[in-house]
This record gives sequence, C-alpha cells and structure tokens, in this order.
Amino acid sequence: MLVVMQSGATPEEIEAVCDAIRAMGFQPVAMPGAQRTAVGLVGNDRRVDGTHIGAMAGVAEVIPVSSPYKQVSREWRAENTIVRLATGVAFGSGDVPVIAGPCSVETEAQIIASAHAVRDAGAVALRGGAFKPRSSPYSFQGLGLQGLKLLARAREETGLAIVTEAMDEEGANLVAEYADCIQLGARNMQNFSLLKVVGRLGKPVLLKRGMSATIQELLLAAEYVLAEGNPNVILCERGVRGFDPATRNIFDLSAIPLVHKLSHLPIIADPSHGVGLREHVPAMARGAIASGADGLIIEVHPTPDRALSDGAQSLYPDQFSRLMQELGAIASAIGRTMAQPVASAAA
Ligand code: PEP
Ligand code: MN
Repeated sequence: MLVVMQSGATPEEIEAVCDAIRAMGFQPVAMPGAQRTAVGLVGNDRRVDGTHIGAMAGVAEVIPVSSPYKQVSREWRAENTIVRLATGVAFGSGDVPVIAGPCSVETEAQIIASAHAVRDAGAVALRGGAFKPRSSPYSFQGLGLQGLKLLARAREETGLAIVTEAMDEEGANLVAEYADCIQLGARNMQNFSLLKVVGRLGKPVLLKRGMSATIQELLLAAEYVLAEGNPNVILCERGVRGFDPATRNIFDLSAIPLVHKLSHLPIIADPSHGVGLREHVPAMARGAIASGADGLIIEVHPTPDRALSDGAQSLYPDQFSRLMQELGAIASAIGRTMAQPVASAAA
C-alpha cells in the first residue's frame, strides 16, 4: 500500500500517517518526491484495509500495490531509479554505460591490458571475476582476494569503476571493500541470505537473472535487497536456459521492456552470456540497446583464445571497439547517448 500525500502536506501530517502505519503493525517508508511525499507500507499487506488512512489530514490518495514485490514496483515509485557508482557512472539516467572486461581476473598484465583496451573503446566500468562460480570444481575458481587487489590497481590506473562478483557473505564484505558494484550471479539470484547481506552493505548491486528465473522471481530477488534498505540495484538480463544447445542461453530481450514497465529499477543486458558465441555477441548487444537496455555488460579479453573462462564468448579488443561505435549510432536513434568515460586523474 502506498499513501500519497497532498503537495502541501505538513511534516506533522506525514508523521501522523507513519504512526498510523506503525499502529497497524507495519513499517512506514517515507519517500519525499519533487512534487509530493509518498509513504509506503512495507510488509505483507494483502489483507490490510487502508480506508482510515485515506481519511487522514494531508492524504491525497491510498494506492494498493498489487504486485508481490512492493518497493521495486512502478506502482511504488513512478520515476526511474538512477543507480550511481562511486566513480560517477549512472545507470537508469538515459545515458547508456558499458561495463566490459574479461570473465575472470587472471593476471596483473591481463587485467591491466583489459582495462586500458575497454576504456580506450569507451567503456565506463571494468568487469572481471575474482570469485568465479564454475560448473565444475576442477575449473579455474578465480584469484580471490588477489584478484580484487588487481582490480583495484586497474581502477587506479584507468579510473574505471569496478564491477565484480561475490558468491557468499565473506566474499561480499571483501568485494564491498574493493569494488564499486557487487555482482550477484545467475546462480545466486535466489541466495536469499546473500541478497540480505548485500542489502545491508548498501553498495550498488548488479543482480543477474537466474538461468531459469521468471521476471517475477527476478523482481522479488531485488525486493530482498531493497527491503534491507539498499535501493541501489541494477538488474541484468543474461539469458535463460533453453532447449536448444545451438546457443548457450536464450537471450530474453523481452525482459527489458517488461521490467521497465513493472519496475523503476534500471536493467542492463549481458549479451555475452546471453548467446555465448563471440561472433553473435555484437548483434545481441545492438539489439539490447535498441530494446532500451540501461547499459551493457560485455566480456572482452586481450587474448580470448587463452582465457581461463568464457574465452569463446569474449570479444577481441578491436571487435569491442567497433561494436562501441555501432552502439553509439543505435543509442542516438532512440534518443539516448552512450555514457562518456569519467575523467580520471590517472588517465
Ligand atoms: C559472469 O558474469 O562471468 C557470470 C558468471 O555470469 P552469470 O552469473 O550470468 O552466469
Ligand atoms: Mn563469464
């Protein structure tokens, strides 16, 4: 339930509404807006009758929030949420930021070369996993803390924001120390205790859609983070598991306009895991921008043939550079612009 206050509502009237919500056993969340304040009621409000609140002084209307997710829904908040990373990169503002880099951090030389290559091509953030969720326990698991330190070095050198995955609570605390955005991977989308941990950490979160998750499940996963007080969630469509091994996943572009309708949170697209084949990544990236994605995350490796993970879907730096040029043209055709690299002292 959402209580929309009149534009001239006094702080006392807003507080009285908050008290009434508390008296009903729920937690009020006041959201001051440009025009007027709204007060949300957090909790399972399916059987709540808000008629008496509708009659209180200063209240304009009481809107029932019909979706099972509350705080992530468009009903709860009409304007787009803009998620800003510490470096100034913004998701959801209308500009299109691109996060790029290798699947995994492998060596200092590899991550520094990747950072320079993607930055020169126009990316505004560097990706690279230090903790890797691999299907096999015998595959490369990532460099862990050492990988995070190398990412921090790459940021020092290029000014790029750092986006990297956390797989558990301990990892999330470490990632929060070193990175600008904590990625939660497809395999962890419904790791509810991890969602609560990153909700409490407050750092921006990149939440990838689970490989067989519905849109509703994705939004409910995001709700866990918001319910802990962290509104900085960027959703990510990365393809869902299909029946056809011809591609790694089915890249569900319909998720982009659908999520925009259902939620105020930004949603970016990951065409690399979406299709899983290097030669088709550019087409899927172009399609994602055309469908309104609030950004992209793309795997790029200086020597993909020698990559320790996901080499077959990683772009060569020159391929990525060409793609970035094409994306600019598509973005401008739909009234958007590619986010510009942020100025950095060490650039
Ligand atoms: C990744 O980004 O390298 C990754 C493991 O992604 P996902 O969780 O989408 O499979
Ligand atoms: Mn990968």
